[in-house]
Amino acid sequence: MEQLFKGKVALVTGAGSGIGEAIAMLYAGGGAKVIVSDVNEAHGAKVVAAIKDKGGEAAFVKCDVSIADECKQLVDKTLELYGRLDIACNNAGIGGESKPIAEYSVEMYNKVIGINLNSVFYGMKYQLPAMLKSGGGAIVNISSILGVVGTANAAAYVAAKHGVIGLTETAAAEYSAQGVRINAVCPGYINTPLLDMMDAKTKAALIGLHPMGRLGNASEVAELVIWLSSDKASFVTGGHYLVDGAYTAV
Ligand code: NAP
Repeated sequence: MEQLFKGKVALVTGAGSGIGEAIAMLYAGGGAKVIVSDVNEAHGAKVVAAIKDKGGEAAFVKCDVSIADECKQLVDKTLELYGRLDIACNNAGIGGESKPIAEYSVEMYNKVIGINLNSVFYGMKYQLPAMLKSGGGAIVNISSILGVVGTANAAAYVAAKHGVIGLTETAAAEYSAQGVRINAVCPGYINTPLLDMMDAKTKAALIGLHPMGRLGNASEVAELVIWLSSDKASFVTGGHYLVDGAYTAV
């Protein structure tokens, strides 16, 4: 694989599974030292081992992204281990309940907003100063097709993912001139453990919403994240990019 990230340090949250795992593997394949972060230690350890098996460099740092202080400690630990931070992918997220607004619990609403939205603010708040010290960098925030269109029965998720795009645009307005590019990626439905809670009938219905006639794979999202994180995207900042099999085109 092309050594796009040689000498760079990349951090991925929720990197123990699914899309985050695929991104961490590709950062490492591109020559980055990778901080694999997750709330789930067993998942994270497995990804670090997979990176090392392939000759890459990685370390696990536990972080619950809904807690500001843990997001700060994640950056502090990154600097302690690898001395710099060049790339961050704020990826960790959960699905939440499948209920209309009147039945959606306040507890789950706040939990989804904490993990899927507040995390991106906390992440960037601590990543940006570290990147400025390293001479610039790139941040990719994982939003969703549900960051650009609504859907029934997912109020918290839709609100959070729309908010991720707003935070991304704001950060780009504030930091692009200082050498940090910030973008968001909006995947369609992707075959990961996040969809495990869905029955076969629901998955089939979801496939029907993608004109390509299938769900996406984590590696297909990771390829876009990799490009946005690399110097090939040197004039790309403040945008949000679909990888959705035409879900939002129809
Ligand atoms: P996934 O396979 O469930 O992986 C998410 C990882 O994040 C898991 O290892 C999970 O640990 C971890 N995590 C959960 N809560 C966390 C927290 N508070 N702090 C840190 N890590 C936490 O999910 P995925 O499908 O790869 O999703 C990754 C991102 O893509 C999410 O932001 C999601 O919203 C977004 N996305 C996914 C899809 C899709 O269809 N899959 C579509 C659009 C956008 P546990 O397994 O222990 O919970």
